[in-house]
Amino acid sequence: MKPQWVIAGILVMAATAGAIVVSTWRGKDDDQSDALRRAIDDGRARNVILFLGDGMGDSEITIARNYQAGANGRLWMDTFLLTGEYTTYAVQESNPSLIDYVTDSAASGTGWATGFKTSNGRVSSIAGTGNAVTSLTTILELAQKAGLRTGNVSTAEITDATPAVLDAHINERGCHGPANMANCAPYKKENGGPGSIAEQSVDHKVNVLLGGGRARFAQLITGGPFVGKTVIQSAQANGYTYVDSAAALDMASSSHVLGLFNAGNMSLEWSGLLATPSPGSGLPAGQTCLENQRPSNEPSLAAMTSKAIDLLDDDANSGKWREHGEGSHRNRKGFFLQVEGASIDKQDHVERPCEQIGETIAFDRAIKIGLDFARNHPDTLIIVTADHAHTSQIVPVPAATDLTRPGTLSTLLTKGDRSLMTINYGTRAHGQSQDHTGAQVRIAAQGPQAANIVGVTNQTDLFHTMAHALGLE
Ligand SMILES: [Zn+2]
Repeated sequence: MKPQWVIAGILVMAATAGAIVVSTWRGKDDDQSDALRRAIDDGRARNVILFLGDGMGDSEITIARNYQAGANGRLWMDTFLLTGEYTTYAVQESNPSLIDYVTDSAASGTGWATGFKTSNGRVSSIAGTGNAVTSLTTILELAQKAGLRTGNVSTAEITDATPAVLDAHINERGCHGPANMANCAPYKKENGGPGSIAEQSVDHKVNVLLGGGRARFAQLITGGPFVGKTVIQSAQANGYTYVDSAAALDMASSSHVLGLFNAGNMSLEWSGLLATPSPGSGLPAGQTCLENQRPSNEPSLAAMTSKAIDLLDDDANSGKWREHGEGSHRNRKGFFLQVEGASIDKQDHVERPCEQIGETIAFDRAIKIGLDFARNHPDTLIIVTADHAHTSQIVPVPAATDLTRPGTLSTLLTKGDRSLMTINYGTRAHGQSQDHTGAQVRIAAQGPQAANIVGVTNQTDLFHTMAHALGLE
């Protein structure tokens, strides 16, 4: 990796038989050793912001980077100096001492949210306990107990598995709302349980809940003091301000905000063509994605992240954190915020590369908001990771007549360097939901105690990294 010629201090270029070889080695002046030394801080974190890219394995990151910024470009999530990898897996419900090597978001989320492995489909509840009411304490619950403010943001239904693992405990992730409780009978309120995921999330009094899933919260509660009311009405009775549009979210300023911007999952940022079986990948010129497809009444993930930070950091200085420094805090405790880019996973399942990339870029823009906040608030631990790997792969560009490729293919013309890149979805036949995969995924961090993510860790270690940084264990 030793550079032979340094040009402009940035690029090393060598002409080889007419080809240009480019290295991004930055040379001696850009040696990272000092920056890494400075980045390691063993102090206490006041705030934690966890950015969770659902299904955002190394392959999904690389695909989005290549398309958006080119092979030598970098996303915001690539700028963290401290990175590691962590293993993801679940345990088996029938015998929790055995491993399930491919996890879903519920079991993996339970891992990072509670420090305990569970089986696929479970939301912060103990593997092997059937539909009995069991709970594993979450990082959000510990933060609340210590007086920190809490927030949960997602582009999925806010009752979906990843956000749910923080503020609900239930045996089956499908029990979103009071009308979806067929597999969770002991959890129903009329049976003395804590209710569906939607009910539990507002009963938890999480300060900021932003995402999709309005239809779940419009269902009628079937037991307890709010029987016959909707979950939204119960939230309002408990002090929540409810908003359902980007404009209303901008105006919100109370200590508890419930924002539901779509009946189901939130709308996608980009659109494009479905991957197709070989040789139909056609597209010899490569497809170009259509951007800016999200309706304006739904906020972007970056806008939700920015507003969540405004609401959680300091009511009185709402919107001012970009200018003010540490001194303006009035002895308030910090906050814990989770931000999920949910539809990276969902579009990977349905073989749609443009939609998948658009959601990855939207997630990256939300990370930029967190980095901006941390610049004035260095006592903020920021973590960027995924819950599991996924099916999409970068494969050689096929000949139009190639009949030997399994799975489905889509060729894209990358924006950054105008090259062709072919994506393959091959864990299932075309039209079926593509599978998660079992590879380790990236974890990156900055801020107090970020060094604990370096190396190869286990997903459950992330719970302890966050809890220890906040002084909660
Ligand atoms: Zn998935």
